[in-house]
Order: sequence, then C-alpha cells, then structure tokens
Amino acid sequence: MSDGTGTRPMVIVGGGKAGGTAAATLRDEGFAGPVVLISREPGIPFGRPPLSKTYLRSEEDLTGWYIRPPDWYEANNVDLRTDSVVAVDPAAHALALGSGQELGYQKLLLATGGKNRRLQLPGAELPGIHYLRTVAECDAIKREAVAGRRVVVVGMGFIGCEMAASLTQLGVEVTAVFPGKYPLERVLGEQFGALIGAIHRRNRVRLLAGGQVVAFQGTERLEAVVLADGERVGCDFAVVGVGIDPDVPAVAGSAMAQDNGILVDELCRTSAADVYSAGDAANHLHPVLGRVRVEHYNSAEHHGAAAARSMLGRADPFDYIHNFWSDQYEHILQYVGHATSWDDFAVRGSLEDGKFVGFYLLAGVVRAAVGFDRGGDPEWEPDSEMAACARLVARHARPNRGVLTDESADLRSLATATEQAR
Ligand SMILES: Cc1cc2nc3c(=O)[nH]c(=O)nc-3n(C[C@H](O)[C@H](O)[C@H](O)COP(=O)(O)OP(=O)(O)OC[C@H]3O[C@@H](n4cnc5c(N)ncnc54)[C@H](O)[C@@H]3O)c2cc1C
Repeated sequence: MSDGTGTRPMVIVGGGKAGGTAAATLRDEGFAGPVVLISREPGIPFGRPPLSKTYLRSEEDLTGWYIRPPDWYEANNVDLRTDSVVAVDPAAHALALGSGQELGYQKLLLATGGKNRRLQLPGAELPGIHYLRTVAECDAIKREAVAGRRVVVVGMGFIGCEMAASLTQLGVEVTAVFPGKYPLERVLGEQFGALIGAIHRRNRVRLLAGGQVVAFQGTERLEAVVLADGERVGCDFAVVGVGIDPDVPAVAGSAMAQDNGILVDELCRTSAADVYSAGDAANHLHPVLGRVRVEHYNSAEHHGAAAARSMLGRADPFDYIHNFWSDQYEHILQYVGHATSWDDFAVRGSLEDGKFVGFYLLAGVVRAAVGFDRGGDPEWEPDSEMAACARLVARHARPNRGVLTDESADLRSLATATEQAR
C-alpha cells in the first residue's frame, strides 16, 4: 500500500505545534521524500496559546501563531489533509482514515495532542456549556462573552485561570468553582496559589474554593450550575477546564505501549517499529526529568523537531528542559523544569510585592522554578534569570539556599558553579 508515488511517505498525524514543527523540520533537515500531514482540525498547523488570551479577547488573529505560512505547505510539497486517523496498523505500516481511505507509511509520527475531559453530570448536554481546545470552540465562547453576562468557570488550572482573566477583561461577570483551596495549587503549590487567588479576587472574580459541580440546570439552555453543598450559581454560560487526556487513535494488536499517553524513549520512538510520538500525547523518557508527559507549547515545538530528526535516523536524545508561561491580567508567570513533589519553596524577591522567582526544591535539589513578573524569556533569552533557572534544573543543582534567595547573588554564575546532586 503506497501513497501512489511508489514510495511510502513520512506521515505526521496532528496539526498542532508538535506535528507542524515536525513537518517543517523534515524539510529543514533536507528530507526530500513525500510527507503527509493529517489533522482532523481544518486549516494549517497553528499554536493554541492565544485561544485563551489575545484571540479570545479579539486583540489579534492567529496569523502570528501559524507554524509555517499558509503557502509553505504547497511550496514544500507537504501534503496537508483534513481527515481523522481512526486506526493504526503498525505491522502493516498502514493507517485507516475517517474518510474511508487507507494510507501506508514508511515512518509515522503521532502528534495527536490531548482531548478535553468532559464532565458527565446531569444537564451536561445543555447548550451554553463550553470546553476550549480548538478555534471553533474558542469562537463559540467569544460569541457568549458579551459584557454584563455571567459565566461559571469550572476548574482553575491554567485554562480556567486564563479564561477567568480574559472573560473578566471582556466585562463578563466570572464565578470560578474549583476543588482545593487555591487556583493552580496542584501544580504551583499553596503559596503561589494564594497569590493567584488574591489577584483574581482583586479583579472581582468570585472564587468558590473547594466547590464541586454536581449538575447543570436549565430548560432550553444552561441557566445555573449546582454545587455539592446545594448552592445554585445562576449563569448565562459556563466554561469547563478540568484537564485533558492524551488523544490516541486505535492501534491494532498490542504493538504500542501506553500509560498516561504514548510511551516513547529519549528518541521519541514508541514500542512499535517506525512509529514515533511527540507533544502532549507522548509520555516520554527524559534524561534529566525522568518519565514525563507535559502539556506545554515550547516543549511541543522542541519535541516535534526532535521526533522528525529521529525519524531521519539522528540519535540526539530529547533533553530540552520543559518550560511554560501563562498570562493573566497584566501578569506573566514563567515556569521551568518539572516538579510533582517538593519539600521546600524558596523565594528570591518578594511574594508580597508580587515580583519573585520561587524554587521548588526536593532535598535541596532544584526541580523547577517559577518566575512571576520577572521578565526574561527562558526560551529566547539565554542570559535571562529564567534561563539560568533552567540550567540549575538541568544540572540537578543543590545550591546554598541563602545564596539562592539572595537577590544580590548572580543566579547566572550560580547556575554554572553549584554543586550537582548527581
Ligand atoms: C487554550 C489553550 C491555551 C494554551 N496556552 C498555553 C500557554 O500559554 N503556554 C503553554 O506553554 N502552553 C499552552 N497551552 C498548551 C499547548 O497549546 C499545548 O501543549 C500544545 O498545543 C501541544 O501541542 P501538540 O501538537 O502536542 O497537540 P495539539 O495542539 O493538541 O495538536 C494535536 C492535533 O492533532 C489532531 N488530532 C488528534 N487526533 C487525531 C486523529 N486521530 N486524526 C487526525 N488528527 C488528530 C488534533 O485535532 C490537533 O489538531 C495552551 C493550550 C490551550 C488549549
């Protein structure tokens, strides 16, 4: 089964940051054979961050977020198809598409990202309940977001927090319902969560901490969200952001191992021959961070590029130190590393003044760092404070805590001089 040219193509599934970057990298690296990129989302590959921020607030269109300009694909002979991959047969090196077609591949990249977890509750199908991942979903929320209307945001992870901020900025009255004590507490901890909570409250978001939604109510469309304690929160619409699950197409046989995503090694290889995975869908073995699956834009870009190089036979382990950012109101937070547990949160700067770097330490070792309104992009500015933090993480550094938190000590030199834990 060939693509009609006699040579099986490199096939990329997914038109997000990872898939789009992989296609571009194949060509950048000089691969001249056939490349097919299949995505169920119409349009060209693009990045999602503006969907909860500037695009939602109608401050920019998506042009600046295209992975490559619209005419790049034809000019570079990349066959872009809007279709869905419904099954993968690794033994036959073949895919079944939603359109009914079959397609053979020489190497396959699954960059299929994540799909929103959906609440299965009474009333969950009422019009007016929204989730956010695609442009179409964002456009639907935009139509609802008229000043003076009331929204319930369910979940205060990154999507929930950014939605609460953007909708507030659009003049919508926001009530946020979430488990736990503070927004973002699960990822960033209590101290940081308390700060974020205070910022949302200051912007007149009503925070219902520890709240659990048990039902949606309405006759024609959503009118209220009902909580476990009996409170009925009246609203015009709701946006639910309760996390994603990896989006993995059906795979014939048991040929591809999965566990919280597609398991890949340091070279983005799955357990199935010639099948690779990258981005939000891939649970990858990282030389510094161990086995991780992250949901970050910059990581998806680097992972997609690494997968493409690996498909071309290059053997460079993917050791990028993950980072992400979030914009809420006039604030920017930047995070580098990956800490799921820590026993110390060491602050450089002032939590009270809201300008600081917080370090997540485990047994004295820097696992991750978060910068709040400190400037300096770890991705683009190698001399920045956050880039120095990424180097501390990469080195498993165990710095002196006093020096780490001392604003007058240079973090950049600390990143190269500190003792390594291993
Ligand atoms: C609203 C929003 C805001 C965000 N903001 C930030 C931010 O500020 N900072 C940050 O670091 N990260 C942010 N993220 C996360 C970041 O966008 C993701 O980490 C990134 O999109 C992952 O890229 P990906 O290519 O792995 O997956 P995706 O972008 O999800 O792309 C996967 C693609 O695969 C397609 N697909 C899936 N299954 C199939 C199939 N079977 N057949 C065909 N096509 C398929 C999907 O339709 C989709 O087009 C945000 C995410 C969202 C949703």
